[in-house]
Amino acid sequence: MKIKGIAFDIDGTLYHNRQMYILSTTSFVANPKLAYHFSKARKTIRTYEKIENFRKTQAGIIAQTMKKDPEQIYKLVEIRLYKKWVRAFRFLRPYRGVRKLVVDLKARGYKLGVLSDFPPQKKLTYLNLEGFWDAAFSSEEVEYLKPRPEPFLELAKRMELKPEEILYVGNSYKYDIIGASSVGMKTAYLSKKESVPPADIVFSSYEQLAEKLSVFLDD
Ligand SMILES: [Mg+2]
Repeated sequence: MKIKGIAFDIDGTLYHNRQMYILSTTSFVANPKLAYHFSKARKTIRTYEKIENFRKTQAGIIAQTMKKDPEQIYKLVEIRLYKKWVRAFRFLRPYRGVRKLVVDLKARGYKLGVLSDFPPQKKLTYLNLEGFWDAAFSSEEVEYLKPRPEPFLELAKRMELKPEEILYVGNSYKYDIIGASSVGMKTAYLSKKESVPPADIVFSSYEQLAEKLSVFLDD
């Protein structure tokens, strides 16, 4: 089956992860303990069955491990982590060739999607990648994190395609490639390493992805 849509992870896929680490340092350095427990909670949540009210549940897990009041932790996470991160991200620059590929695919009539574990909207604006997407959302909205199949199935639904008609591009083997292939999507794995586990496409630059994609595309 030929591909009718291409979807992307954001962090580490549309821009270099290094930028995120540098930019988020301000909020991490200011709140190292909170950030540590936040990361730990995300790992726990990845194994969860459906949870009601994602952000509140997440705050509850953090509060438990920090032995703090859940309501207070919820507010802290919202302000110090989510809001601060978003502000820091205005300096993001996409990988070379990303915009060109996205513009080209859009012009050729392919559907485009973005699925990230974090809210994507502001990042797409800062990356100068706004207005291309048939679906752009966070797995938090579905109340699951990758590599759970639910966010990927929701992506297919929002792109109005079958999972097999979508090629998902990501930089995390564990979360992106395993998650997307588990629902039947084709996968493109961004990795600079010499030897990597299998994906339908392995690429290290967007010029290379554009070239390798042609086998899967119809036109
Ligand atoms: Mg990523």
